[in-house]
Amino acid sequence: MADFWEDIELTEEQQLFKESLLEWGERKGFPERSINMNQVGHPFPKDIVGGLCELGVVGGTIPEEHGGQGLSWKDQALIADVIGYLEPSIATAAALMAVETGWGFTIDRYAQEEVREKFVKPALRGKMFIGIATTEPGGGSDVSAFESTAEKEGDDWILNGEKTFISGTEECKEWGGGYWVNVKDLTEPTPGGPPHKNMTSFFVPIDSEGLEVQQPYRDAGRMALSTGGLIMEDVRIPDSYRLGKQGRGFYYTMEGFDNARLLIGASSVGVTRRVLEEAAEYINEREVFGKKLSQYEGISFEFADLYQRMKALRLMYRKTADMQDTRYREEGMPKKTGRATTYTPLDVAKWISMIKWKAPHLAKEAADKAMHWLGAAGYSDEYIFETAWRGVMSYCVGAEGGANIQKIVIARETLGSKPY
Ligand SMILES: Cc1cc2nc3c(=O)[nH]c(=O)nc-3n(C[C@H](O)[C@H](O)[C@H](O)COP(=O)(O)OP(=O)(O)OC[C@H]3O[C@@H](n4cnc5c(N)ncnc54)[C@H](O)[C@@H]3O)c2cc1C
Repeated sequence: MADFWEDIELTEEQQLFKESLLEWGERKGFPERSINMNQVGHPFPKDIVGGLCELGVVGGTIPEEHGGQGLSWKDQALIADVIGYLEPSIATAAALMAVETGWGFTIDRYAQEEVREKFVKPALRGKMFIGIATTEPGGGSDVSAFESTAEKEGDDWILNGEKTFISGTEECKEWGGGYWVNVKDLTEPTPGGPPHKNMTSFFVPIDSEGLEVQQPYRDAGRMALSTGGLIMEDVRIPDSYRLGKQGRGFYYTMEGFDNARLLIGASSVGVTRRVLEEAAEYINEREVFGKKLSQYEGISFEFADLYQRMKALRLMYRKTADMQDTRYREEGMPKKTGRATTYTPLDVAKWISMIKWKAPHLAKEAADKAMHWLGAAGYSDEYIFETAWRGVMSYCVGAEGGANIQKIVIARETLGSKPY
């Protein structure tokens, strides 16, 4: 049987690092452990958080002088892929790659020194949880349909509003930390402008007076990571907790989405790899009507189709992560450097959206097919398929933006016409 990784293009260093991460995961009991983790009420495993933080893979792209490793997006995406493969319920990838790394990098980029020292650095050591709270009851896909507000009072800001479906609220409550929160800046940095031009972002500590953490939702999967709501009633936040410039929150948020989407796309490729690898072993052994299941074209052709798409998405995320590295490396340089490798953030966003749209759906489809190929065995939690299906579904329905939102980005950037 083929090697499902076939990483011929990896450098020796990347190959060694990947192998050591895989060995670490196996020592920790993955992927079997992923099945237990995806049962109701399972807490987020502290040893995994601590272990991955010690390995330096959480927030790896954050610069070394800020406590990160200064890794490239290409390396970080490879790490996300391995994490998805190890833990296909995707709770680990969701918490530690998408939220703490994708959004963590972006928080670190715009945070002032105090937030970086008090929250970002401890989160990189696994001592706190930092996350993103942009979704509101009236505005999920439409990020600019937000109603939360911030009023200036002396040097402080008074925040009011509600955020829903926020990853990690219980973990954040337990470990300490806080959230990137978007609000309508009532000082109106762009007077009379559209709502998104008056969005300002703040870092809001979870233990702030006036912040209420609501009961977590009972999600279909990703059980080891909570999803809950936040209500802010006159929460007082110092100006030193403002992220970046007033009125720029929407643009920072889009950047955070791109970083998180790239990593969750890569993790979903890892989930697909695990699913196909585990299914391949079964269909190569199980005999029905005198032949192995893999000898029936009804099954092997479906397998080939999924395998090809997994490989294509893998190449795509590697190339796109390269583009993201170039985009950050060249930031601040004149717009056109004359080099073929110059990308605008929106150029990269289009590629990232293609991955975020397709990779979780492929993983879900692979898990669904595998359950069919295995019959009753596939439907049980003896195998990782139902766990993988329930986990990646979160990224199909909405987390980090649903499929249609990715299509909007792709169409807008390709056709050049704004849909609204
Ligand atoms: C497990 C999980 C974890 C999450 N964690 C976080 C978090 O940590 N922080 C956070 O801020 N949010 C989080 N979210 C919320 C997530 O960002 C939203 O679910 C997402 O933005 C979609 O918003 P919505 O659910 O309100 O759906 P809606 O915006 O109501 O959209 C419903 C459906 O319509 C589609 N749709 C929307 N607009 C269009 C259009 N113009 N054309 C065609 N179709 C369209 C959408 O793709 C979606 O399928 C999480 C969600 C999940 C499921």
